[in-house]
Amino acid sequence: MEFNLDRYEKRVIVSPGLCIYCVRVLPPDELTDEHVIPYALGHNTLVFHKSSCKTCAAIIQRYEQEVLKKQLGTFRLQVDAPSRTKAKDRPTSVELPFAEVDDQGVFLRDLGTRSFRLGDAPLALSLWQLPEPRLFSDDADDGGDNGRPWSYVEMPAASRIIDEVRDETGARHVAMKIGEVNRSHFLRFLAKTAHAFAVAELGIDGFNPCLTDIILDREDEMSDYVGGTFPSTDGPIPPEITTILAIGGVGDLVAVRIQFYHVLGSPAYAVVVGRENENTAARIADMIERYD
Ligand SMILES: [Zn+2]
Repeated sequence: MEFNLDRYEKRVIVSPGLCIYCVRVLPPDELTDEHVIPYALGHNTLVFHKSSCKTCAAIIQRYEQEVLKKQLGTFRLQVDAPSRTKAKDRPTSVELPFAEVDDQGVFLRDLGTRSFRLGDAPLALSLWQLPEPRLFSDDADDGGDNGRPWSYVEMPAASRIIDEVRDETGARHVAMKIGEVNRSHFLRFLAKTAHAFAVAELGIDGFNPCLTDIILDREDEMSDYVGGTFPSTDGPIPPEITTILAIGGVGDLVAVRIQFYHVLGSPAYAVVVGRENENTAARIADMIERYD
């Protein structure tokens, strides 16, 4: 059971009358709207009306903003992702830092930053590659495979720039540093997005949620729940789709698949959001009907 969310029109989910994270029932004026796909990546594609309390929203904002600005900020500018900053106040250039490295890629010295017009800088996306969530397999070792950084850098634009910096500085090997990934913030951001999406589609009582402590920054061990998975085999996904969200299951686990900018060959994620309950099968059937 899975499907792809490949629609651009705004969809608003009615308020559940409670915070979908801490599950406190609150009056409407104490709840705020949630963008299930963060506004910065998906405009208003999926808005969950009055579904987060202000306390939870403040905790989430701390790591979500970090991911959207530090890790994805330059990329978002380059692909012209939506921003609440007015167009005239948005940067028209990007700063890229360079370093000299040895034959093994080990850092030798800082070569400073260069400024590029947005259109001239090579497109670069930084994500994190992960093993499957540990809950997916019985015999998963807890050997602490935390995954590794993953990046896409547009060639040959990047090589041209690197050659220029090498000529200018006399360095033997030049490396370009791109948006650094904070694994912990990024995994929490994936957990939050997956939970909000699952509640939006299945309802707060449509499964037994398990990510609250991770989302509210009270638990640092995330490998059981947040991991990687194989890309969808549903058939070709149109290149213009920037965010894929899908619900699936493994045994009695309910999981959400997430992939950003699949056209760049980016890693797909699987996030276990909870376990099935007596409502899950019917809610998933409803969901599939909605999308058909
Ligand atoms: Zn809350």
